[in-house]
Amino acid sequence: MTISQFQVGVLLQKNKIMKRKKICIIGGGITGCTLAKILSRFHNVTIFERKPNLGGILEEYKKKNNFYLRGCQYIDFESPIVKFMSKKELNEFYVFNQKYFSFNKFNNKELFSKNYAVPVFLLDKEKLKKIKSSKKSKRNNLKEKIEEYPDFISLNLKKFYLKLGLNLEELTYENCFNFQTGKIGFTNQIDKIKEFKSKSKLLDDLYAIPRKKLDDKFVTKSILPKKGFNTFFENFEKQYSKKIKIIKKSNIRPKWDLNNLKIINNSEIINFDKIVWTGNPTYLIKEFNGNKLNSIPTKILQISADVVSSNKNNYFGQFYSDELEILRVFIYKLNKIKKINIECIPKIKDEKKVALNACKILSKYGVDIKINFETLSCFLDVRFNLISTNDKRIIENFNKKTIKTNLLNSPWILYGRDQKLNYYIEKLKREKLL
Ligand SMILES: Cc1cc2nc3c(=O)[nH]c(=O)nc-3n(C[C@H](O)[C@H](O)[C@H](O)COP(=O)(O)OP(=O)(O)OC[C@H]3O[C@@H](n4cnc5c(N)ncnc54)[C@H](O)[C@@H]3O)c2cc1C
Repeated sequence: MTISQFQVGVLLQKNKIMKRKKICIIGGGITGCTLAKILSRFHNVTIFERKPNLGGILEEYKKKNNFYLRGCQYIDFESPIVKFMSKKELNEFYVFNQKYFSFNKFNNKELFSKNYAVPVFLLDKEKLKKIKSSKKSKRNNLKEKIEEYPDFISLNLKKFYLKLGLNLEELTYENCFNFQTGKIGFTNQIDKIKEFKSKSKLLDDLYAIPRKKLDDKFVTKSILPKKGFNTFFENFEKQYSKKIKIIKKSNIRPKWDLNNLKIINNSEIINFDKIVWTGNPTYLIKEFNGNKLNSIPTKILQISADVVSSNKNNYFGQFYSDELEILRVFIYKLNKIKKINIECIPKIKDEKKVALNACKILSKYGVDIKINFETLSCFLDVRFNLISTNDKRIIENFNKKTIKTNLLNSPWILYGRDQKLNYYIEKLKREKLL
């Protein structure tokens, strides 16, 4: 018996023991689609998606005949998304070693590193001493987390966040991961930092060292769909439409009936044994107990273009600065065409000038890139993935109060897609639905 036949056998056996349930998933993003695929082996699953297409934030935006990613959207090869892909699905992707860099410009001084995708600083003896005396706070908010770093770091990080117009006291400290400021790296004194990290949990948590210093064999393997995510999700629909009911253009409203959640789809009220709500929970919570989430939006302008020539493939860089509009650059390939995405703050006057500046900075640090300016286009992305301290409290309280209902507890306060999926899978296993 081959392994796959064996696995099918185990699944069939499990299927007999497990009573098939009627489960619905609100949201057809990568989280909803991956969960639907896993759950449909044992249960009757329906996905409801508000938009005309599946994909969520992975949906590319189209301009004229071109289409572009909304930001730096590759998938980690170790992700549960990949783990649950069929061979056919995985064949739709290409695998690459993800390379990255960090560009920093504070007080007019530039610092560049290929070793990190987090802010980097240069150390002298005085600063090294300050690093050692970093102090842990209660981490009640993002401001407190930033202030755990000595002044020469925290003052610059505050300037970076100020540029984004964020109120640091209003946000939970975990929001640092949304902006890749979870740790800080250095361009020198790496062995000293490695030693500090091994002796202090706090310093280990605050500071990064290059990954290859941790593990010689470390390579970051990632994947991107050869023909783009839109095609991937279209194929997902074709492949699974017999096993999973997929209902699009359906903006689901919640209806709480004592401790039972029902959903309203175009004025029809429907009952499910279990509901997995991967989409924004604002109405879900408001309907339950009247609590209103802050749902703070971040506006990011995506500038995209086709690339005429470049000496780099699949390369991204984080930009940390007190004055630059650019936040992140991603060079990638879809449909055999090289493309560039430049994420920046929305208040810019001339996108061509911003793109030219990005190319100028890249070329200074060894990335030769020529953009086809005729294809240059912009997309204003409004994201609701920041969590205020108030929202965290409301969500945690809501999750506690609804634990015995037919709604599965959800990781709305988490950012990373792998973290989210792992949380759901764990919950589903605990409820013996997987
Ligand atoms: C620009 C950007 C870049 C990111 N980059 C990374 C990264 O590099 N690595 C990482 O780990 N994480 C990243 N994240 C975070 C990560 O993508 C998210 O945490 C999450 O995994 C996105 O997938 P999702 O399916 O959970 O949500 P989404 O993609 O947002 O999908 C949710 C879907 O639910 C639908 N929906 C919402 N409400 C309803 C409703 N009431 N009825 C019906 N449908 C509804 C929406 O239309 C949407 O399609 C990024 C996020 C953004 C915004």
